[in-house]
Amino acid sequence: MSKRMPVVFVSHGAPDALLKAPDTVAVWREMSRQIPEPKGILVVSAHWEASRPTASMANTLETIYDFSGFSPELYRMKYPAHGTPALAKRVASLLSEAGLQGELDLNRGLDHGAWVPLTAMFPNADIPVTQLSLIRNGTASMHFEMGKALAPLRDEGILILTSGAITHNFGWLNWHADGSETPDPKAQAFGEWVANQIAAHDDANLLNYRRAPNGAESHPTEEHFLPLFVALGAAKADTPSRYSPRFAYGALSMDAYLWADATSNLLKEKV
Ligand code: ZN
Repeated sequence: MSKRMPVVFVSHGAPDALLKAPDTVAVWREMSRQIPEPKGILVVSAHWEASRPTASMANTLETIYDFSGFSPELYRMKYPAHGTPALAKRVASLLSEAGLQGELDLNRGLDHGAWVPLTAMFPNADIPVTQLSLIRNGTASMHFEMGKALAPLRDEGILILTSGAITHNFGWLNWHADGSETPDPKAQAFGEWVANQIAAHDDANLLNYRRAPNGAESHPTEEHFLPLFVALGAAKADTPSRYSPRFAYGALSMDAYLWADATSNLLKEKV
């Protein structure tokens, strides 16, 4: 049996997914059941960008409410996992060895791109976590290289959990959607295109996603798609599984992916 940890990408949706997207939460829980207990979790969220890829060394991780105008209940939620400075240092050193100049931050906590899916997937908050930033204005290829540099962590019992969005055009959103309506056709089409490329392991096509139909329109800014490239780089040739909860607000695809070594018991159990 392979001991390599899977790699996960989730679309975190709106900050209130824990309160308003029960089928997404159910999918996150189902995914967590496919993951052996990690020794630590490295989260890469769309909501932290820095000039260099930066890992948080904080021992106590603040739950960051980086949103406004949502239900007061959301602001009372906390994700009290401990930090893991040792993992943060390992991450920075792997990135630096790959020429990506990994940095450390002493204080940074967990933004909602991190704590929202973590709350659903690991509700006991008993596994130490560190968060890693994206590279501000970095390209898809740079984030793919980051993922490749981080891949050895998977053999060290570390779960790489990346969190962004498969589609993220706020101009397409319907804030009154209740989930029963047909999703935006462009968002739906791009979500299917992404799924097909992932299934075909066509990383080159994915890296050129802005030239794909609806690609650039699905991501007016790139930061919510970049975590996917970190996952793809770390996943190597592993076998992807797609999870497709209902769209949020009519146009946010909530698709999630888990890559696992095809020789592991994990996938054998699913067949
Ligand atoms: Zn977000």
